[in-house]
Amino acid sequence: QFTRAKPDNVALLEAARAEGRLDFMTGVRPVSLAPREMSIETRDGPGTLVCDRVIARLGATPARRFVESCGVAFASADKEAFPVLTSEFESSTPGVYVIGALAGYPLIKHCLNQGYDVIERILGNEELRPADEPILERKFGGLPGRRSVDEWLELMRTDIGIFNDLTALQLREFMLESDVRVFASGEAVIVRNDMGSSLFAILQGSAAVEVNASDPSVTVTLPQGDIFGEIGLISGRRRGATVRAAEDSILIEAPRSAVLKLMATAPAVKRRIDAVTAERMIKQIFGGTLSKADISAILAQCRLQSFKAGECLIREGETGYDIFVIRSGSVVAEKTIAGKEVFLSYVPAGSYVGEMALFDDGHRSATVRAAVAVEAIVLPGDTFRTLLDDRPDILRNVQEQVYSRRQVNGFIEAQKSSFGSVADMYSSVADFLVEQGIGEATDALLIDETLCIGCDHCETACAETHDGISRLDREAGRTYAHIHVPTSCRHCENPQCMKECPPNAIHRAPDGEVFIDETCIGCGACQRNCPYGVIQMETPPPKKPGLVSWLLFGMGPGPGQPPDSWIEKALGSGGAKDKVKQAVKCDMCRGVDGGPACVRACPTGAAIRVSPEDYLKVSGMGRATD
Ligand SMILES: Cc1cc2nc3c(=O)[nH]c(=O)nc-3n(C[C@H](O)[C@H](O)[C@H](O)COP(=O)(O)OP(=O)(O)OC[C@H]3O[C@@H](n4cnc5c(N)ncnc54)[C@H](O)[C@@H]3O)c2cc1C
Ligand code: SF4
Ligand code: SF4
Repeated sequence: QFTRAKPDNVALLEAARAEGRLDFMTGVRPVSLAPREMSIETRDGPGTLVCDRVIARLGATPARRFVESCGVAFASADKEAFPVLTSEFESSTPGVYVIGALAGYPLIKHCLNQGYDVIERILGNEELRPADEPILERKFGGLPGRRSVDEWLELMRTDIGIFNDLTALQLREFMLESDVRVFASGEAVIVRNDMGSSLFAILQGSAAVEVNASDPSVTVTLPQGDIFGEIGLISGRRRGATVRAAEDSILIEAPRSAVLKLMATAPAVKRRIDAVTAERMIKQIFGGTLSKADISAILAQCRLQSFKAGECLIREGETGYDIFVIRSGSVVAEKTIAGKEVFLSYVPAGSYVGEMALFDDGHRSATVRAAVAVEAIVLPGDTFRTLLDDRPDILRNVQEQVYSRRQVNGFIEAQKSSFGSVADMYSSVADFLVEQGIGEATDALLIDETLCIGCDHCETACAETHDGISRLDREAGRTYAHIHVPTSCRHCENPQCMKECPPNAIHRAPDGEVFIDETCIGCGACQRNCPYGVIQMETPPPKKPGLVSWLLFGMGPGPGQPPDSWIEKALGSGGAKDKVKQAVKCDMCRGVDGGPACVRACPTGAAIRVSPEDYLKVSGMGRATD
C-alpha cells in the first residue's frame, strides 16, 4: 500500500515511527502464520514477527475460495452472497472478523465505524453502543410510542415475517438504508402505473390494495407484518395497483439496493420475497377468484427458471405444454415465415407465454426467446389444464389472450406473399432494437434518420439544461435502417448501474426516470456496470450566469457547452483537475417543464422517446399496420 499512499500520509507514518509510537516494514511478503507468530520474506531474507492479530485488507471482491479457506462461510452459493456474520461482525470462525466492503458495507464510514466497534469488543468493551446508533435514534425518534432503538429493531424482527430470521446486525444495517414513517388512514403509499422499486413492510396498522383499476372500492387488506411493492422490486415494471394505508400505520420503505443486498445475505428473506412475488403475480395475471390455497397448490408444482439474453424459452415446431410467467426481464416472440424469423411481439414481465399450445395439442406455433436476462415461473401444462377446467373465468381470460395472439399470427401469415421485404425489415429492426437494450428500456431516445438533419440541437439543448454537459452523444451509438440509437440512458427496468453504488445515489423517480443525486462519490461502479456505456464521469462545472446576463452583459459562455477555459477560470486555481468527478447521465430532464429538452429542441421531430411497447411502431411495421 505504501507505493500508492499519499506522500503526506507516508510522512505522518514515518514521523510516528521516528517518535517510537509505531513501527512498520515495507517490501515484505507474508509466508505463513502460527499462533502469535508470522513468517515473512523480506528483501534481506526470511524472518519472523510476533503477531497478535492479522488485519488483511481485501476489498469487496477477493477470491471467494481464499476467503472461505480462512474459515469464513458465505450465506449461500450465490456469487452475490456475503459472509455470514454475527452482530459483532464475527465470521463463522471465532476470532475472524469481517468489516467493510467484503461484509457488504462499501463506504469508508462503514469501515471506520465497524473497525472501531470490532477493536473495542476485542479489547473487552461490552458496553459499547454501535457508532451508528444516533442515526437510528433520529430515524425512529418521530414514531409514536417511546421505544429505544433496540426495542424498535426487536419489534420489526418479531412482527414482520420477512425479518424473522435476521440477525441484529443485518436488521440494523438494513434500517440504516431504509426509511420508516407514519401514513395517515387513506393516504396513498404507492400509485398504480407509477414507477417504483422500493419494498414496503407494515410495522403497525394495515394497508388496502385497490385491485380493480376501474373501481377503487374493491380492495384487498394486507395485515400488520405483511409486505407490498415486491412485484415492482423484482420485475422493474410500473406499480400494478394503488396501495393506501387502511388505518393510521407505520410502514418501512426499503430501497431496491438494500433489499437486493439483504436477499443476497439472508436466504430466508429471498425465499419469502420470492414466494410472495410468485403468489401475487399469479393472482394478478390469472384473476382475482383464486384463493391463497389455490395459488399455493399451483405454486407447489412450479419451478423458477432463469434464461440468458437470447436463450429460447419455447421453440417453434416442438411439442410442449408448460406455461412461462415472466417474473423479470422480457421476451420476444418470433415465427418462421418463408424461411425467415418474423418478429411477432414483445412480452414484458408480468405476462405469460406458452398457453397457445394447450389449445393446439402441444404444438408450439412460435419461438419465444429472452430479450434480456429473464426469470420465469414455469407452470407445468397439466397443472394449468386442471386450473382451466376448474375455473371458467380464468379459461375465458386465457381464451381471449389466445384469440388475440392468433389474430396477430394469422395477419402475418396472410401477408407473407405480399410483404416479404417489409417483414424482413420489420424483424431485423426489431431484433436490432432488442440487441440495443430497448427491450429492457422504460424510455429510450431514438433518432429517425430519415428526418434528422444533423443540426445537433438535441445535444446543445441537453447541455444547456445540464450545466453545459450533454448527457447524450447523438453521433455515437448504432444505426439500423432508419433507426439510430444514440448513446443515452435507456432508464432500464432493472438498472445495472444501481446495483453497486456505495452511497445508493442512483434512484428511480415515480415517472420512471433513473437519476443520480448529489451524494455520488465518483467511484465509477455505475459506469462499469451500465451495459450501454451511457454514464460519463465529469467534474461538475460551476453555475453559468443566466441567458439574460449573457445577452445583455456578455457574462459567461453562451448556449451549449461552456468552453474548458471558462470552466478552468470559474473553478479557480487548480481548475477542474482538483474537483472530484461525479457520474452524469440522462435524467429525462427531471423537474424541467415540458419534458426532455432533446425532443423539444429537435426541429424535424426526428428525436423521439419510446417505451418498448411503442418501439414496433417506430420500427416501421406499426406505421404500416396502424
Ligand atoms: C474512486 C472511488 C471513490 C470513492 N469515494 C468514496 C467516498 O468519497 N466516501 C466513501 O465513504 N467511500 C468512497 N469510496 C468507497 C471506499 O473506497 C470503499 O468503500 C472502501 O475503501 C472499502 O474498504 P475496504 O477496506 O473494504 O476495501 P478496499 O479499500 O477496496 O481495500 C482493498 C485492498 O485490498 C487489496 N487487494 C484486493 N485483492 C487483493 C489480492 N488478491 N491480493 C492482495 N491485495 C488485494 C487492494 O489492493 C486494496 O488495497 C470510493 C471508492 C472509489 C473507487
Ligand atoms: S445508466 Fe445504463 S444501466 Fe442505468 S438505467 Fe441507464 S442504460 Fe440502464
Ligand atoms: S460513480 Fe456511480 S456508482 Fe459510484 S457513487 Fe456515483 S453514482 Fe454511485
